[in-house]
Amino acid sequence: MDTVVSLKSIMEKTTSTKAQQRLGRLAKALAHPTRLQILHILTQGEACVCHLMTVLGKRQANVSQHLTVLREADLVVDRREGLMVYYSLADKRVAQIIALLRELALDEGDVVFGAVPALPVPGCPCPKCAGADN
Ligand SMILES: [Zn+2]
Repeated sequence: MDTVVSLKSIMEKTTSTKAQQRLGRLAKALAHPTRLQILHILTQGEACVCHLMTVLGKRQANVSQHLTVLREADLVVDRREGLMVYYSLADKRVAQIIALLRELALDEGDVVFGAVPALPVPGCPCPKCAGADN
C-alpha cells in the first residue's frame, strides 16, 4: 500500500475549507530550501528570474518552477516590465516568517543561508546589476 497516496487522500478529505487548503499550500511552499532562499533574497527587494538564477546558481527551469509554487501559495507576486518579469514578496509578513525561520535554525548553531549579495552581483545580466555601471 502506498503510504504517501493514502496520507494525501486523508489530507484532502480533512482539509476541506479554503483557509485550510491555503494553509497547506503555504506550508508546502515553505518546505523547500531553495524556495526559502528565494524568499530570503526577495526580502531585500524585487528581483527578476535572471537575478535569482545568478544568486542561486541554478537553471531557469528550476527557479521558475519554485517561483510558480511560491506564487500559487500567494507568497510572491510578479510584475511585468517589457520582457522582464520581476518578483517580490506578496506581503511584508513573509519577510517576518523568513526571519523567524532563520532565527530558529540559527539557534541550532547552523547557518541557513548566507547574506544576500549586494547589488550589483558580478556576472548577473539583470537590468539592476548590469545597468548599475551606467
Ligand atoms: Zn542581478
